Amino acid sequence: MNTTHTTRILNAVDACFDAEIDFLMELCAHPSTRGNEQSAQAFVAKELTERELHTDTWNVKVKDIAHLPGFSPVLGDYDNAINVVGTHRSREQSGRSLILNGHIDVVPVGPLDMWHAPPFEPHIEQDWMYGRGTGDMKAGIASNLFALDALRQLGFAPAADVFVQSVVEEECTGNGALACLQRGYQADAALIPEPFNENLAIAQVGTLWFQVHLKGIPVHAAVASSGANAIEAAIPLMAALHEMEHRWNALEHRHAAFAGHSHALNLNIGKIAGGDWTSSVPSWCVFDVRMGLFPGQDLEAAKLEVEQVLRESARQQPFLRDHPPEIVFHGFQAAGYALSDDTSRIATAAISALDSAHQATNGRPLEKMAITATTDARFFGLYANTPALVYGPTAEAIHGFNERVSLDSVRRITQATALFIADWCGLEKI
Ligand code: ZN
Repeated sequence: MNTTHTTRILNAVDACFDAEIDFLMELCAHPSTRGNEQSAQAFVAKELTERELHTDTWNVKVKDIAHLPGFSPVLGDYDNAINVVGTHRSREQSGRSLILNGHIDVVPVGPLDMWHAPPFEPHIEQDWMYGRGTGDMKAGIASNLFALDALRQLGFAPAADVFVQSVVEEECTGNGALACLQRGYQADAALIPEPFNENLAIAQVGTLWFQVHLKGIPVHAAVASSGANAIEAAIPLMAALHEMEHRWNALEHRHAAFAGHSHALNLNIGKIAGGDWTSSVPSWCVFDVRMGLFPGQDLEAAKLEVEQVLRESARQQPFLRDHPPEIVFHGFQAAGYALSDDTSRIATAAISALDSAHQATNGRPLEKMAITATTDARFFGLYANTPALVYGPTAEAIHGFNERVSLDSVRRITQATALFIADWCGLEKI
C-alpha cells in the first residue's frame, strides 16, 4: 500500500472517530451481562443493517452445537442467547476473506459502591471511557465496525467477504463463537480486538470450570463435633487443588510460548455457597473453580486429574471418605490455543499483514505476547483451521471496578484494522 493511500485511510478513521465514540457510549449503556444481551444485540443488528450488511440474527441452540468439538456444557437454558452477524459480500472476490469477531457479553459488575460511577452509564474523563464492557470488549466491536466505515467513506469496500460477528457466551463457554462456525461462517483469517494493549496474543491458555459439591452432617453447633462441617471440609480440598496448580505450572509442563511465565495457569476459587443457619453445622457446600491449561494440554486428562486430586484429598477426611465430593464440569471446557504453533503460509501472511498495519499506525513493530486468559480465538484456530489474530486496545480493570478503555488506543486499533482489511481483503470501489 502506498503512503498516500495509508494516510487517507488513517485520516478517514479520524474523521469517523466522534461517531465511533458515540456508538461505543451507546453500546456500553446496554447492561449485557450473560442472559441480558438482547437489547445490545438489537442495537448492533440495527447498526449493521444501516450499513447495508446482510444481517443474520439467531438464537443459539444447544442441540445444534452440543456434538461439536469445543462445546462447553451449560447450566440453564439458552432461550435468550442471541448471536448477530453482518455479512459483506464482495463483488470482485479478489482478496482474502475475514471474520471480524467480538463478544457482546460482559461480566457482572460486583458491588456498586466500589464503582466511582454507575457501570452502565459510561462516561469519559480525558483519554478514558469508563464503564463495564468498555474495554472487554465493546471497544473492539466498535473498531471492527468503524474500520469498515472509514473505508466506505473513501468509497471502498473490502474485495473479499467480511463477516462482522457479535457473539454471546465468550465469558463462560465460547458457545456463541462455536454457533457461528456451526452456521457456516468461515474465512481465511479472523481478527478479535480483545483488549491486550495493542499487542498480538500469540498464545492463550485454556480454561476449565468445575463445581465441587460437598455434603456434611447437620447438628446443633452445641455438639458440633458429632456432625460434619461441609464448609470447613472444602478448605483442604482447595489446598490440594492449589498444589495441583503448582505442579501444572512447572517448567517441564509449559508450552513454549509460556516458557517465561512462572505462573501462567491460575486456579481461582471464584464462588462459594453453603450452610443454612449460623448455629447449625452446615450440611452442604458448593464451590466453583476456574483452572487454566496450557495449549496442547489434554482436556480430558486434566479433568481426570482434577477428580483424582479431589477424591484423594477427600479420603483424608472421616466423613468425606464415605461421602466423596460430587464434581460437575460445566461452563468453560476450553482448550488452549497458540497462533505461534501455526506455521502455515496463511497464518504467517496474516501476522505479517497485521504487523505492517500496526507499524503504520504506531511507528513500531507489533509486540507479541502469550496471555493467561482465554478468548474465542480457539474456535477459529483449533476447529476451523483459521488463524485468529487477537489484537485490541489498551484497557484497565477489565472484570474489575472502574473498567476503562483508552480512546486514543481505540483510534489506533481502528486505524490498524482498516489498514489490515485494505491489505488482507484488498479494496473494491463501492
Ligand atoms: Zn473479552
